[in-house]
Amino acid sequence: MSKQKKFILDEKNLPKQWYNIVRDMPNKPLPPIHPGTKKPLTKEELSVIFAEELMDQELSTQSYIDIPEEVLDIYKIWRPTPLVRAYNLEKALDTPAKIYFKNESVSPAGSHKPNTAIPQAYYNYKQGIKHLTTETGGGQWGSALSFACKYFNLDLKVFMVKVSYHQKPYRKIMMNTWGADVIPSPSMMTASGRAALEKDPDCSGSLGLAISEAVEMAVQNPQTTKYTLGSVLNHVAIHQTIIGEEAILQMEMAGDMPDVVIGCFGGGSNFAGLGFPFLRKNFKEGKNIRIVAVEPQSCPKLTRGKFQYDFGDMAGLTPLLPMYTLGHTFQPSDIHAGGLRYHGAGAVVSQLLKDKLIEAQSIPQLETFEAGLLFANTECIIPAPESTHAIAMAIREAKKAKEEGRNKTILFNLSGHGLVDLYAYEQYFAGNLVNYDISDDVINKSLAELEKL
Ligand SMILES: *Cc1c(COP(=O)(O)O)cnc(C)c1O
Repeated sequence: MSKQKKFILDEKNLPKQWYNIVRDMPNKPLPPIHPGTKKPLTKEELSVIFAEELMDQELSTQSYIDIPEEVLDIYKIWRPTPLVRAYNLEKALDTPAKIYFKNESVSPAGSHKPNTAIPQAYYNYKQGIKHLTTETGGGQWGSALSFACKYFNLDLKVFMVKVSYHQKPYRKIMMNTWGADVIPSPSMMTASGRAALEKDPDCSGSLGLAISEAVEMAVQNPQTTKYTLGSVLNHVAIHQTIIGEEAILQMEMAGDMPDVVIGCFGGGSNFAGLGFPFLRKNFKEGKNIRIVAVEPQSCPKLTRGKFQYDFGDMAGLTPLLPMYTLGHTFQPSDIHAGGLRYHGAGAVVSQLLKDKLIEAQSIPQLETFEAGLLFANTECIIPAPESTHAIAMAIREAKKAKEEGRNKTILFNLSGHGLVDLYAYEQYFAGNLVNYDISDDVINKSLAELEKL
């Protein structure tokens, strides 16, 4: 009998609601606070930067939020995405474990990011906003938002981390194709950018710094211009839960349920998107599914950072958020997983980790590329450098299952493909990639600056 490999949901079964985990959390996340007054921020204050309806969602304690028809219509271009059983990878590992992956690489931008780009553009458009600003690391978020803005006729400025701007010229061209303006960060267009360049003219940039520039540009014209963020915040995680809601239905089609669910971790959105609906099963149905976040060894905020209030950006322009952080002045190494080079984590994920309801692991760069190559040579899809972190963890779990002689079902998120990241693979083949082990001193130094907050 031939074995079923792909589990495809019918378009009419596309989930019609996003899930908000906050209501089901035993300890609620701490609120964002104003850096000046140190008081919790109101929706009105947050709405200076972000669209109002997005801030309703950010502060919502409702379990489910209806997905607008306009958003569902665009989701249908590529959703529901396939759930795939990785038989060839299992065979290569000679493991008793079953490995499944959710393939988010099939979106027009090649990652999970359009799941939130579309609703963010939609709610801004509905509010009458004309211009959006944002930052992008690997270029994934910028390209997703460019394509979303096209649908709702919004003008977009993207501050792209300089190291990625040069490493990934094709992402920039994708954004230009969809009509966005792309600026390498740090730039001379903002005070934050100019300050960084004054300190170090060769500064290669970071997500935190690019956020500072994009926020600065948005607050200058709050009536017509808003800022958007592709990760970290709860409304972003909420939009991404479409991944996990679909995956639950597809695992049921497969007659299976995961023992462990794995996502790579930058700010937490693809991890939360796949993981939170399964975590609901732990909360509501007494299941014991392990939900594992995987970060780079060189940017270990979850495994070696500290839980406390910190800024989301480098210059300190965003609200203070309760999070696991390496300190907002932490400068990540130039690893190729650009989307994972971020000092902090979302408030909800951070609270869940503090309460030991989810797990975190870090993996060195070379192991992630080895995993990516094995995946490309078994399941044929060339994964994004970010996604290889989830693959490497799935492989660790599958090997452990073999050692223990145990059956196990593993599900990971293939957050994106690597077809626009081939430069990273080229560097790997040339032997130019290294592991970066960050010393305690470096982490303690950037954390020490936080104590003064
Ligand atoms: C942006 C990105 C990530 C990291 O962001 P999260 O918010 O943590 O999901 C991971 N994988 C890909 C392909 C990305 O584009």
